[in-house]
This record gives sequence, structure tokens and C-alpha cells, in this order.
Amino acid sequence: MFNLTRYFSTLSFVLIALAAGLLTFYFRHITYEQLLRHEQSRAEEFTQVFENSLWPLFKPAMEGTQTDAPDVLRERAASIRLRETLSNMTRGTSVIKIKIYTRDGISTFSTDPRQIGDNKIDNPGFQSAVNGIPISELTHRNQFDAFNGTLQDRDVISTYVPIHSAEDGQERIDGVFEVYQDVTAFVQEADRHLKWVSAGVAGVLAALYLAQFMLVHRAQLILRAQARALEETNHELDHRVQERTHDLENEISERRRAELRLDYLAHHDPLTDLPNRLLFKKRLSQSLENLARHQAQLAVLFIDLDHFKDVNDTLGHSIGDTLLITITRRLQSCIRPGDTLARIGGDEFICILEHTGGPATALEVADQLLELFHQPFTVDDKQLYLSASIGISQAPLDGMEVDVLVRKADAAMYQAKADGRNRSHFYTNAMTAYAQERIQLEGLLRDAITSNELSVHFQPKVETQSGRLLGAEALLRWDSAELGSIPPTRFIPLAEETGFIMELGFWVLCETCRQIALWDEAGLHVPVVAINLSVKQLERGNLPELLRTIMRETGITPERLELEITESVIMGMEDAFAMLADLRALGVRLALDDFGTGYSSLSYLRKLPVQTLKIDQGFIAGIGKNRSDEAIVQAMVDISRSLNLASVAEGVETAEQFAFLSRLGCEQVQGFLFGRPVPGDEFLSHWQTQVSAALSVE
Ligand code: C2E
Ligand code: MG
Ligand code: MG
Repeated sequence: MFNLTRYFSTLSFVLIALAAGLLTFYFRHITYEQLLRHEQSRAEEFTQVFENSLWPLFKPAMEGTQTDAPDVLRERAASIRLRETLSNMTRGTSVIKIKIYTRDGISTFSTDPRQIGDNKIDNPGFQSAVNGIPISELTHRNQFDAFNGTLQDRDVISTYVPIHSAEDGQERIDGVFEVYQDVTAFVQEADRHLKWVSAGVAGVLAALYLAQFMLVHRAQLILRAQARALEETNHELDHRVQERTHDLENEISERRRAELRLDYLAHHDPLTDLPNRLLFKKRLSQSLENLARHQAQLAVLFIDLDHFKDVNDTLGHSIGDTLLITITRRLQSCIRPGDTLARIGGDEFICILEHTGGPATALEVADQLLELFHQPFTVDDKQLYLSASIGISQAPLDGMEVDVLVRKADAAMYQAKADGRNRSHFYTNAMTAYAQERIQLEGLLRDAITSNELSVHFQPKVETQSGRLLGAEALLRWDSAELGSIPPTRFIPLAEETGFIMELGFWVLCETCRQIALWDEAGLHVPVVAINLSVKQLERGNLPELLRTIMRETGITPERLELEITESVIMGMEDAFAMLADLRALGVRLALDDFGTGYSSLSYLRKLPVQTLKIDQGFIAGIGKNRSDEAIVQAMVDISRSLNLASVAEGVETAEQFAFLSRLGCEQVQGFLFGRPVPGDEFLSHWQTQVSAALSVE
């Protein structure tokens, strides 16, 4: 640290010493100046006295000496006895020697005779005096020849004074008088004074120095204390900065980790850890960019598990999740490094195959993937058999955009499902045509109700034994102004997918009830009219409420309605029992449609609150052609009898079929043999005449 005291001491000491030196020197100078002036004026007074009293006497003896030799001059001086006169005159004064010069600088007299004859023309003192200005000089002499012998160690002032004389009223300088005065005592006295003064000055300055030193020293101590405090604060600050930096580094890395985790979560499926739809799209988009640069080919495989919903519904979601993880691991084992496997939905996986080189590679991988499903999956000690359907789209063949390739692979996957599942299918342009047609249908269907293109037709159900009309089935018809007549098998699944089925189903229910009322009014009593229900309508939960409202508004009693639900729909529903029980509680009848296609077990069937089994028309078509179909039909009739359910055979077209069914004891029949589905009024006119004919026969 900067040592203020040391620097101050050194500097002050030097300055004080300098000041003391200068002051002493100045004081000494003034003292000597005063002494010189004083002694000079005394020498002038002395000269005045000499001029007045002696010079007129001695002047003649001093003239005309320029050419005289020193010896001559010495003799002349001795002869005039000036020395004695001057000696007397100076007795008791400080004058110890006198010299007289002519205007030419020749010493014509001196109290020391040896100096008579010296030439002082070049001496500055002499020059000043001869020009009218007296001048003095103080010198120290170790030895000095005075009047009264040699003096030792003396301070002597020599003064040159002009000697004036007045002649013809004019004053002139005749010569120069040099007076030597002994000022030793005075100088010693002055020196003594000087020493005291110097000591005094030095003392004052030293005191001043001491005071300042103490002040500075104190300041230095304060500064040191402050510097120390500052250093400690700095140290503390440094420490805190270090700590904060450390904390910040921790915070940053923590945040970075959180960001990475978030990024991971945003791009991965939490269940299987596979890339999700977002990451898949990014990867595919990157691959497509590379593809454009390298002119390669890639394939997108859309993998959908067949009937996975059944696993979830029957075994629970936890087993479903574990199964998905197991399937993922198996799929991953088959995926080449560099390819991407992603999960983009519940049971939907998608795979990007890079550098396929053509459809053969894609097909090979798809086959390998399908093969993975040949072995059962073990979950919770259960062996589960599952298959998958795979749709394949290829780039650049089918497009170079992510969404296009996914859509096309998806369409191909649907085709694979439609073809019987557990297979793969390449995308073809026909699929797009189909998809486009679906879009068109969807648009038209939405307007079909308001534009009166929809109608409900009714197909009779008759008693096998008597041929009596026991009921009818309401079947929806769409006669599109643009596309002509479209079968329900085409537009019902579409309406189910789009959710429009709710509106449609409600409309059918209303129309049917309205028709029953109209028939009643017209005198045709159709005991029960069956209405087909879609799975969506059942799942929605507000169906009982809706039915109650409709029945109230149309005045139709519940036993006049039968709800047909296909067997496979019931098998696929989670809470089918509760749902059916709610409907049954309303008092409406329930029928299991397309019986034989849904693999329901006997024990399951027994628990269902249904009253009717409708034997699927596929089996009826086999009567007379296929023994096993006949056996199945027989078994179904037996089952319904043993479960105390009514059995209805659908799609009875021939008399042979009818005869077979009559023999078996199937209670009701429905089919073209007894009447095609027709509009309500046509149904009315047909059956009114039939009934009245029967009555008239009776
Ligand atoms: P479904 O409920 O099994 O209806 C019986 C189908 O068999 C009807 O076809 C009917 O026209 C047809 N059919 C009746 N007798 C014969 C026959 O002797 N030979 C042949 N080959 N076929 C016969 P449709 O009307 O085309 O309906 C097909 C399916 O569409 C229905 O099958 C039903 O599942 C569904 N569906 C029809 N209308 C509705 C509706 O309003 N709502 C719901 N959700 N589905 C409906
Ligand atoms: Mg039906
Ligand atoms: Mg049916």
C-alpha cells in the first residue's frame, strides 16, 4: 500500500531543510547587506571627514604621479607623514587600513607602504567609485596587514569611495579612497544571531513538521483501516460472487436438464419411450430433405394392432399398456439402425424405412414385422395372441410431403384391415379415389336430412307357423340427388366415424315412432318395430333419456319398440350389461342382431337382457348348400329356445330356406321371401290388404 507517512516525511524534510536553508541564507544576506550599507556609509562619512580636513593638505602631494615610479611615490608618501595623521584619526574606529588612488588607478598612498604604486585601474570596485558610486565588499582574511601589524582571522569590509573636490564651483572626482574596516566582532555577533534565528526557524518548522506528521500519520492509520475494511469487503464480495456464480451455474445446468427433459417429453411417448408423432414428423421431414438431395427412396409403414381395443376392454388398461411395451420391444428388435419407429396413437405405430431402394425392401421389413406377431406375447403370465395390419407408402413414388405419406400409409393400412387384417398393403391411387369419395359422401350426408333424401323403409317379420305379421325392421335409405341410391352399409360406418350417426339415429327413431302412430291411425297394428342401433348411440349414454322423450311425444308405448344391436358391438363394449339393462328398464325389447358373427359364449349370452336372437343371414344363405351352416342354424335355434329367447332368421329368400327353418322351429322369419324393405305407406297398403284378406278367410 502507498506509504503516505514515509513520502510525506521525506518530502517535508527536504522542503523544511530547503526552507530553513533558504531562510538562513536570506537572513544572512540581509544582515550582511545591512552591515555593508552601514559600514559603507561610515566609510563615506570617514572619507567626507578626510576630504574636508586632510585632502586639501595632501592633494598637491598626490598629483602628477602617473609617471612616477613606486619608490618615488612611497618616498613622497612617507615624506608627507599622512600615515601618522590617519592613524591618529582612525584610532578607536573600526578602520584598520586606508589606500588612496589617483583617478588613473595608481595607489599613491597606503597604510601598508608596500602597496603604494599598485595599479587598480581594472578593479571593478575602483571603477565604480571613480564613476561616482561607492561600493563595499565583505571578505574573510586569514591574515591581514593593518596599521598596527598583522591581524589573524578577520572579517574585513573594503569600501571604495570617490574623493570629491570643488574647483571653480564645479565638483569633480580627484581620486578614490579605499577604506578597510574590521567587522569581525559584528560578523561574529551576526553569525551568532543567525544561528539562533536559524535554530528558531528550524524549531518552528520542525514543530510544524511534527504536527503535520502526526496528522498525516493519523490519516495514514485511518486510510489503512479503511483500506483493510475495503479489502475485507472486496474479499467478502468476491466470495459472494463466487458463491452466486456457483449457484447460477447449478441453476443453469438444472434448467438445461429440465429443458432437455421437457424436450424429451415433448418428443417421446411416455409409455414406450418411442418418438411421438411430433418427433416422427420432424424425422420424416429431415429424411425427405436428404432424399431429395441423394435421389434415394424411403418407405413409411403404418402399423395398427388388430383388435387391440378388445384387450383393453377385457383385460384392463394396465395389461394393455404392458402389452404395448412388450410389442414395442419386439418391433424395435426388427428395426434397422437408422430407421425410426414411433408411436403415434393408442395402438398405432409408424416406421420410417430409409434407403429402401424399392418396394421389395419395404415389403420384406413389413413381413418381418408381421412375423413378430406369430409368437404370443406373455403379459402377467397370460399368453396373448395379436396381429397387426400394415399400410405402406413410399417416397418419392407416393409423394414427398410428410402428411401425404402418412395419410397414404394410413389409407393402405385400412385396406389391409379391410382385406382381413394381419397383412400389409401398399398404397394405391384407387385408395385416394375411395377416400375422396368418402369425403364427398360425408358432405352430402350432412345435408341429406334437410334435403329430404333420407327415408325409413320397413321390412316385415312374420311368424313361421302362421305367416302372421309379427313386426317390422326399420331400415334407413338414402336416395342422393347427386349419387343415386346409397346402401346403408356404405354410409352408416361413415356416419359413425364422423359422429353424424347421433343425429341420424335420432331421426330414424322419430320417423319410426311417427310411422307406427300413422299405421295405428290407419288401423294397421304392427306389434313390434325393430330399430338398428349403432355402437356410438349406445356409448353416448343419453339414449334412454332420448327414447323416453320420443315415446312420450309420439305416444308409442315401449313394448312396441325393439332395439337391434349387433353381437360384435356388444362384445366390444365395456359396460354393455349396464347399458342394456338401462334400455331394458324402459320396457323396450332388445335383439341381438347378426347373431353368430360376434363369438359370444353361451355363458355371456345368458347374462344379456335380450329377448331376441337374429340369426345372421350369412348362415341362412348356406341352407341347402352348406351342411355346417345348417348345423349352426340348428344350434342357434336350439340355444335361443333353451335360453327362452325368440329366434328370428334374417335374409330368408327361398322356400327351401323357409321350410328348413320351419322344421327347426325357428319362430320368426324375415327376408325377401316375405317382403323387401319398403316405405311406410307401401308397407301399410300391402299389409292392410294381407291382414284384411286373412280376416276375411277366417
Ligand atoms: P341388418 O340390421 O342386419 O339389416 C338387414 C339387412 O338385410 C338389410 O340391409 C336388409 O335390406 C337386408 N335383407 C333383408 N332381407 C334380405 C334378403 O332376403 N336377402 C338379402 N340379400 N338381404 C336381405 P340394408 O337395409 O342394406 O342394411 C344393412 C345394414 O345397415 C343393416 O343390417 C344394419 O346393420 C344397418 N342399418 C340399416 N339401417 C340402419 C339404421 O337406421 N341405423 C343403423 N345403425 N344401422 C342401420
Ligand atoms: Mg338389423
Ligand atoms: Mg342383421
